Amino acid sequence: MLYNSTENKCEVVSASQAIAQGISKDGGLFVPQEFPKYDIDTLKELLKMDYKGIAEKVFSDFLTDFTAEEIKDCVDKAYMASKFGSDNPAPIVFKNYNGNSAGILELWHGPTCAFKDMALQILPHLLTKSLKKTNDGKDAVILVATSGDTGKAALEGFKDVEHTKIIVFYPVDGVSPMQKHQMNTQEGSNVKVCAIEGNFDDAQTGVKKIFTTPQIAEELEKNNMMFSSANSINWGRLLPQIVYYIASYCEMVNSGKINLGDKMNVVVPTGNFGNILASYYAYCMGLPINKFICASNSNNVLTDFIKTGVYDKNRQFYTTISPSMDILVSSNLERLLYKLSGDSDTMTKDWMTKLKTSGKYEITSEVKDSVSEAFYGGFCDDEATKATIAKMFKEEGYLCDTHTAVAVNVYDKYVSETGDKTPTVIASTASPYKFSKAVLSAVIDGKELPESEFDMVDMLNDITGVEIPAPLASLKNKTARFFDVVKVDKMPDYVLESLGIK
Ligand SMILES: *Cc1c(COP(=O)(O)O)cnc(C)c1O
Repeated sequence: MLYNSTENKCEVVSASQAIAQGISKDGGLFVPQEFPKYDIDTLKELLKMDYKGIAEKVFSDFLTDFTAEEIKDCVDKAYMASKFGSDNPAPIVFKNYNGNSAGILELWHGPTCAFKDMALQILPHLLTKSLKKTNDGKDAVILVATSGDTGKAALEGFKDVEHTKIIVFYPVDGVSPMQKHQMNTQEGSNVKVCAIEGNFDDAQTGVKKIFTTPQIAEELEKNNMMFSSANSINWGRLLPQIVYYIASYCEMVNSGKINLGDKMNVVVPTGNFGNILASYYAYCMGLPINKFICASNSNNVLTDFIKTGVYDKNRQFYTTISPSMDILVSSNLERLLYKLSGDSDTMTKDWMTKLKTSGKYEITSEVKDSVSEAFYGGFCDDEATKATIAKMFKEEGYLCDTHTAVAVNVYDKYVSETGDKTPTVIASTASPYKFSKAVLSAVIDGKELPESEFDMVDMLNDITGVEIPAPLASLKNKTARFFDVVKVDKMPDYVLESLGIK
């Protein structure tokens, strides 16, 4: 199987090249030229497999320049029971919700308690193998600018992976105390964490500049290293997310919620559009899905887009209690538009150019019709998010995090607007303990919040009786290893010194 750029069909690469390169030279994103097709007989086979088995099958159909042994090695290393708490890294909790059968797909049992682990636990292994195939065994240097969750998940994924080094930059005052502590206590011999004096955009701009400075690339080259990226537009992060939608369909069938061949809905709390796109790609492969319900917080640019066909990022930016969805440019939407425009690289490029120059574009009415046929968009604000957390806990005995609560809230709206009774899978993207402050204030009934983050965790545990995930519980006793804070213009020096080449 080959991949091409969404903005230039002539840019064609292998799977390992797509993963090693991350983004196409023309700025487009790599997409598979066609999708493997899973008919009912294939799905019947998958019903008998465990998560790892399904993962191996899906990976082998997309990564055709990997051997079966290589894929098995990646999957075994990534989804170990010791890292995800059990042999099923993505369990479903069933609720009879709204009179409908709804499964909450918990994607946060990995080492950092957020769904990014599902992809970032396997990406380092896919990447090192891809680099071996394409770049005669240079060591990969991963630079990450993070506003919190991605940095920690990338650190955990890359820690002690041979032939890789990872350096994470975060805005000194721009992450939560828990996120800072998670990163500064990171273990591993190949990791570095550094705060920068500036905001997230400064960190991101600084990293981009390092990536594109030729002298720095030359220094790395001399030392048999090269830069690579772990960000969410890399095909190696999207592909692992297709797996859990297929696995969740199998679990819906195996548990008797639907019959093989019946359709289900998916609800996804959305930021960069990676997670929901993965479910759409599963559908392109033949997975029976009825509706893709795209849930946003007050940064509701996608809700408007799905309703009107106009994408307009010129609007107020809100900082919300679901921070991983505080995004105005959802990068992976580009891949959906490419697909729905009938693989038109010229139309996709035109829209993306307009987005860059004016922050706005409008799709054709034909493409708009395909969007609204498949997708439903909705949003809710912080107030409604907290009310949903409280309601879910009181009525269903289920404690959800802020991002998952947005999804539940929007699903409610969808059901009351449409009356649709299709069994539904709701993606749950983080442990409630990752956002203890907001979750606690939603269930506390006006009582006063304690000051420290760890006291809030304990109080939430006292009130709800919900188990604290081990990786967060153990954090309390860990001591920080990283204290560096640098100015933005010192980031290049910091990178070279950390790599021991200056
Ligand atoms: C990253 C993230 C999201 C958004 O996922 P996208 O793939 O970017 O749409 C939602 N919830 C949580 C907790 C996240 O970390």
